[in-house]
Amino acid sequence: MKIGIIGLGLIGGSLALDLRKSSQNIIFGVSRRWETCQQAIARGVVDQASPDLKLLADADLVFLCTPLGAIESTARELIPYLAPTTVLTDVGSVKQPIVEMMTSLWPNFVGGHPMAGNTESGLDAAQKDLFVDRAYVLTPVESTPQVSLQRVGDLARSLGSKVYQCSPVDHDQAVAWISHLPVMVSASLIAACMAEVDPAVLALAQTFASSGFRDTSRVGGGNPELGMMMAQYNQEALLRSLHTYRQQLDNIIQHVEQANWLALEQQLQHNQQVRPRFVE
Ligand code: NAP
Repeated sequence: MKIGIIGLGLIGGSLALDLRKSSQNIIFGVSRRWETCQQAIARGVVDQASPDLKLLADADLVFLCTPLGAIESTARELIPYLAPTTVLTDVGSVKQPIVEMMTSLWPNFVGGHPMAGNTESGLDAAQKDLFVDRAYVLTPVESTPQVSLQRVGDLARSLGSKVYQCSPVDHDQAVAWISHLPVMVSASLIAACMAEVDPAVLALAQTFASSGFRDTSRVGGGNPELGMMMAQYNQEALLRSLHTYRQQLDNIIQHVEQANWLALEQQLQHNQQVRPRFVE
């Protein structure tokens, strides 16, 4: 299959590396900067690369892997080159606005979101096997062609991912809870620590910080553009999660202020019991 990948960064580059392992696939990469295209060829990430979208004129399937804010303009520029049979899919972390816009532009579109990543960005961060054992969520709507849905699902399974399907709206609320809210909470944690006014205490905190702080600050210290776009494109669902989170934080503040250690312990015991429902 001739596969196009637009946006050779962490996700696009990682997809290219894995899809290229199959001798049946030829990978065409398009990225904004020439250096990235040259680097992608030199590293063997893609078969061919160029900043020119014309390169994808013969592609059977194209992954849109740019930042969320560039998906629409990229698709509009790309579409005049494509045959109607070409399947377009994206990897954006928010689905409802993207699926709505893309389906109106190109009916042969399948919304997708591989639930994998790290705090790095750009082609240097691309790695093999990033998607193994990770969820790959597809968000078809009524008009999504079944054959295209099947094709994207098969490719996702070939990466070693576990493929799930849900509506774009349900996807966006679910990821608001487990991905977008954690980014904002973790970012607030870093900002709160930096608000320490005593420079000596701040220096000590920075020296003592270890695995607990590393874990809880990881997603808040990641790619700022990605975090901002999660909030911009998933504003409503994220706000719903943030308000609930603030209420939980207020409950904890109240327990601590009132020295209600029993209530606090009960809350923490409950959390300890339910956490494995999210992560093993
Ligand atoms: P990234 O590492 O910053 O990669 C995006 C790449 O796209 C950049 O390296 C840039 O390459 C290129 N680019 C930017 N604007 C472009 C344009 N207009 N046309 C062509 N190429 C362009 O970002 P990422 O983390 O891979 O995220 C990409 C997408 O994946 C986003 O939609 C995001 O929501 C989604 N996603 C991210 C994660 C995650 O954890 N990071 C997880 C799942 C899904 P140049 O070097 O050429 O400028």
